[in-house]
Amino acid sequence: MEDIRKKSKETQCIHASFLEDAKGAVVTPIYQTSTFKFRDADHGASLFAGREKGYIYTRMANPTVEGVENVVAVLEGGYGGVGCASGMAALHLAFASILKTGDHVVCSESVYGPVVGLLNTQFGNFGIDVTFVDTSDLKAVKSAMTEKTTLVHVETPGNPTLVVSDMAGVAEIAHKNGAKMTVDNTFMSPVLQRPLEHGADIVIHSMTKFLNGHADVVAGMVVVKDEEAYLHMRKMSNAIGGTIDPFNSFLVARGIKTLAIRIKAHNESGPKVAAFLDVHPKVERVMYPGLKTDPGHDVHAKQADGPGGLISFELKGGVEAGKVLMNSVKLCVLAVSLGGVETLIQHPASMTHASMGPEARRQAGITDGLVRISVGIEDVGEIIADLEQGLEKV
Ligand SMILES: *Cc1c(COP(=O)(O)O)cnc(C)c1O
Repeated sequence: MEDIRKKSKETQCIHASFLEDAKGAVVTPIYQTSTFKFRDADHGASLFAGREKGYIYTRMANPTVEGVENVVAVLEGGYGGVGCASGMAALHLAFASILKTGDHVVCSESVYGPVVGLLNTQFGNFGIDVTFVDTSDLKAVKSAMTEKTTLVHVETPGNPTLVVSDMAGVAEIAHKNGAKMTVDNTFMSPVLQRPLEHGADIVIHSMTKFLNGHADVVAGMVVVKDEEAYLHMRKMSNAIGGTIDPFNSFLVARGIKTLAIRIKAHNESGPKVAAFLDVHPKVERVMYPGLKTDPGHDVHAKQADGPGGLISFELKGGVEAGKVLMNSVKLCVLAVSLGGVETLIQHPASMTHASMGPEARRQAGITDGLVRISVGIEDVGEIIADLEQGLEKV
C-alpha cells in the first residue's frame, strides 16, 4: 500500500504488516524456515556484503518477522523495528545497545517488576549503576542525573501505580545531559501514545500485551527513530540472538489487525469500571489517568489519545481484602499479564512486584492492598457486576 505512513491507525493496523509474496497471498505467510537458499555463490556473497537485499538466515531477517516489525514501526512513527522473543528481551536489547561499563541509568520507580532486577543485577554485574526515581517529578529526574547518566528509562503510565510522566519534559532533561531516553509503551500501545513524537529515542513493547491482545503469545519489539540507530540495533540483535520467531510474528501481526478497534473498546470500558470503583465504599482510591481527579490526568491527556484499560485501586482492608476480592471474582480472571481481550485481575505486592522487596515497593507506592485490573472487551456491565459481587464479599 502506498503511503501507509500517512494513513490512519485503523488502516495501518490492517495493512502495514503486508508483504508482497510470489504466490499472491493476501496475508503475509508464515515463512517457517531457518535459512534461505542462495541462487549461486555470488548471490550468497553479495547478500552477506549487503550489496543486494534479501534473506540469509532467520535470526538476521525473515519475511514474516519483517511484517510485524513494519507494522509496529509504522504505528510508532519510527524508522524501523526489531522483533524480540519477549518484552524483557526487547528491554535488554535496547539497554545493551546504549550502556557501557561505568554508565549510570535513571529509571522510573513505578516500572515493570523484572526491569528492577535486570538493571540492578544483570547490568549491575557489568558495572552499571541505576537510580530509581519518580519520573512524574521532573525535579527528581533532574537531580538524579549524573555526568555518567547515559540512559533514562520511562514507563508512562507506570506499572502498577499508573503514575504519569511527562515524556517531553524527561526527554529534555535526558538530552541536555547527553543521555538517551527509552520509553516502555506497553500499557498504551501506539494507537494511544507514540513516545517518539515526545522526544523518546527508543520505544519498547511487550507485544505479549495489547499488540497481540489475545493472551497466547510472548513477544517484544524495539522501535528506533532513524536508520543509523536501526542498523546498530539490528546488529546487536543478531549478536545477542533473542529474536522473535516467524510463527509468533504471524500471530502478533494478526492480533494487531484488530488493535485499533480493541483499544476503542478498552477506552470505553476503562472509564466506566474506574467510575464504578471510584465511588464504591470499599475502595480507598483509584489510580487511572482517565479520571479527572487523577494527578496524572492533565499530562496524560496532553501526550496520549485515551485512557486505556489498565486500572489500579486500593481496597480498604489492605492485603486481606484484596485476597477476598480476587478469590471471589467469577468473570475476571485471576492472572498476571494485561492488554488481552479478557479481563485480568492481580495483586502486585504478592505477584508481579514481589521480587522488588517491601522497601522498594513502599518507595514506588505499591501498597499491600493494591489491586490491578486489565479491563477486557467483554460486556462492561457484566465486568462491573462481577466486581460488585466480589466487593460485596470483602
Ligand atoms: C509484560 C511487560 C513487560 C515484559 O514483557 P514480556 O513479554 O513478559 O517479557 C515489560 N514491560 C511492561 C510494561 C509489561 O507490562
